[in-house]
Amino acid sequence: MKKHSNCRICRRVGEKLFLKGEKCNLPNCPVAKRSYAPGQTGAKRNTRRGSDYSVQLLEKQKARAIYGVSEKQMANYFHEARKTKSATGETLMKMLESRLDNVVYRLGWAESRDQARQLVSHGKILLNDKKVKIASLQVKISDKIRTLARDYNENKQEIPNWLKKEKNSSEGEVIGEAKLDDTGYAINEQLIIEYYSR
Ligand code: ZN
Repeated sequence: MKKHSNCRICRRVGEKLFLKGEKCNLPNCPVAKRSYAPGQTGAKRNTRRGSDYSVQLLEKQKARAIYGVSEKQMANYFHEARKTKSATGETLMKMLESRLDNVVYRLGWAESRDQARQLVSHGKILLNDKKVKIASLQVKISDKIRTLARDYNENKQEIPNWLKKEKNSSEGEVIGEAKLDDTGYAINEQLIIEYYSR
């Protein structure tokens, strides 16, 4: 891995992805500013740029980069999502958002999802009072998540409405279902579905 490879992905998709946390706020990140503020809704609906293969591929790669999942995992999420009765794209995004590593990040205990994944694999995360080391685990409503890490810096991300945590607390709870408009990124899930439906 070269030093600024993460921001190379930012350049490719034209959006600050914060794959290494605050590094995207340094001059190394080639994108001028994030395309819309975290928590702002609806913005992503304007991002459709035509649905040719390269656009679909790019959107899929962007989602993979953000959530740090392998191609195989991503394809699995798609196949699982397609089996449900709900809209495939929305279900796919919910599955990505409901990953334990993402939840740890979104609760503010890590500067990036990479770092969140490490907290999980190092045994610093309890799910309903049990130590879990599987970053891809899907959380459910009323799950309680706690971090044992003592020296974390709370990140500056806004905590989404489907999660609950007091400021500077080491305990959080899942109080709803992950929302498509709440990801903090302009992901067009429809393009991802088109990619896998070719
Ligand atoms: Zn960047």
